[in-house]
Amino acid sequence: MQFDVLVLGGGIVGTAQALDLALRGKSVGLIERGTPGGATSFGNAGLIQSEAMMPYAFPRDPLLLLQYAFNLKPEAHYHLKDVFKVAPFLYRYFRSSNREGQLKTAAANFPIFSRCLAEHERLAKAAGASAMLRHGGWIKAFRDAKHMDADIRQTAIDVAPFGVQYEVLDRKGMQAAEPNLSDVIVGGIKWSTPYSLNDPEALTLAYAKAFEALGGKILNGNAMTLAQEQAGWSVKTVEGVASAPDCVVALGPWAPDLLRPMGYKVPMGYKRGYHVHMRPKGNATLNLPVLDADVGYMMVPMARGIRLTSGAEFADRDSPETPVQIDMIEPYAREMMPLEGRVEAKPWMGVRPCMPDMLCVMGKAPKHKGLWLNFGHAHHGLTLAGASARLLGEMITGEAPYTDPTPYNLARFQ
Ligand SMILES: Cc1cc2nc3c(=O)[nH]c(=O)nc-3n(C[C@H](O)[C@H](O)[C@H](O)COP(=O)(O)OP(=O)(O)OC[C@H]3O[C@@H](n4cnc5c(N)ncnc54)[C@H](O)[C@@H]3O)c2cc1C
Repeated sequence: MQFDVLVLGGGIVGTAQALDLALRGKSVGLIERGTPGGATSFGNAGLIQSEAMMPYAFPRDPLLLLQYAFNLKPEAHYHLKDVFKVAPFLYRYFRSSNREGQLKTAAANFPIFSRCLAEHERLAKAAGASAMLRHGGWIKAFRDAKHMDADIRQTAIDVAPFGVQYEVLDRKGMQAAEPNLSDVIVGGIKWSTPYSLNDPEALTLAYAKAFEALGGKILNGNAMTLAQEQAGWSVKTVEGVASAPDCVVALGPWAPDLLRPMGYKVPMGYKRGYHVHMRPKGNATLNLPVLDADVGYMMVPMARGIRLTSGAEFADRDSPETPVQIDMIEPYAREMMPLEGRVEAKPWMGVRPCMPDMLCVMGKAPKHKGLWLNFGHAHHGLTLAGASARLLGEMITGEAPYTDPTPYNLARFQ
């Protein structure tokens, strides 16, 4: 099977890439070992966060770090037995998280975050899925007034260079926005511009369907069989060998498995995360996604119920699942709004693919002709899928990229 481009990995990043290339008239084979959108992209919080160019930095407050060290806070958890494996990533992440590092990453993020809504709109329109993009934004809610005041001051500083709009809600404003939230919440910051989804998997599947309607092929295969040929690249699939002059690696957390044996340094770390759905009590509803900022988890109105998503778990990618954070946050969620029991007995787990400088990897592979990279989107793979797809789509087809791709190149780690 001969294509113009092979895309390896059918998460939201790879599927958006395949759709973008198909819309540019390329014949594309999308190689996936499971089902599109079935891994990390299945269960995220569904936010398309146009405001989030300032990265999530490694905390530096000694008291907080001490609490993390004893696994006392719901927003972060780590596996003691994996400490030596995750330490090199954490050290580099810590070093990049000084103010200078944060500002550098935020500046590099700005062009792609600025495009994230428009590019999802473009792809969703092509997929007949525009109605899946819920407008209205999301709310960062606070229980502690002092924390809220400090956060408002920091937010003003952080977003000033980027012209991001937000609104401060007092207790009354919060109650007007979310009447079913209890009075433990004293106020919040509302970001009105971002979008959200009520089923992230469904958006990936809609993009996959649109891709197929344009003649794209989704092939069941193992990306690890990738081989360099004289004329480009080939992969073994259940349907036969697929070949193309160009190949995009969009394997999310599994990208290093393929690239390290090819001679690349890929210092990826993993922030694992969990979700569970809760049934709301009676007619209780949530209008928008809400972050419980003092505890560190999201509550999101989703098709299957109120989705609670956890913060980060630092562990080896493939270590056994330990959804203790879900158990820790559930009582706080119940305090926030009237909830019945869990929808699923077992929480879902996904793995955020994170680079230590808090910036994704996109662009030409430094050492191989026709090999392209699109992974490492950490907390924002859904957010950036469309904007990343467009940038790489333009580069692969030889069009002028809408922004300078240099900051995202893997060459920065070689
Ligand atoms: C709890 C949680 C909440 C989150 N909330 C948000 C949010 O609100 N907004 C946001 O923007 N982001 C969010 N994220 C992050 C986001 O989900 C990820 O950044 C994104 O899903 C990564 O997408 P991806 O396509 O790169 O990876 P994946 O979705 O993991 O896709 C990679 C694909 O590659 C396939 N694959 C792997 N190995 C092989 C192989 N050998 N052969 C063939 N196929 C292979 C996998 O099966 C998979 O389908 C959240 C993440 C978590 C865990």
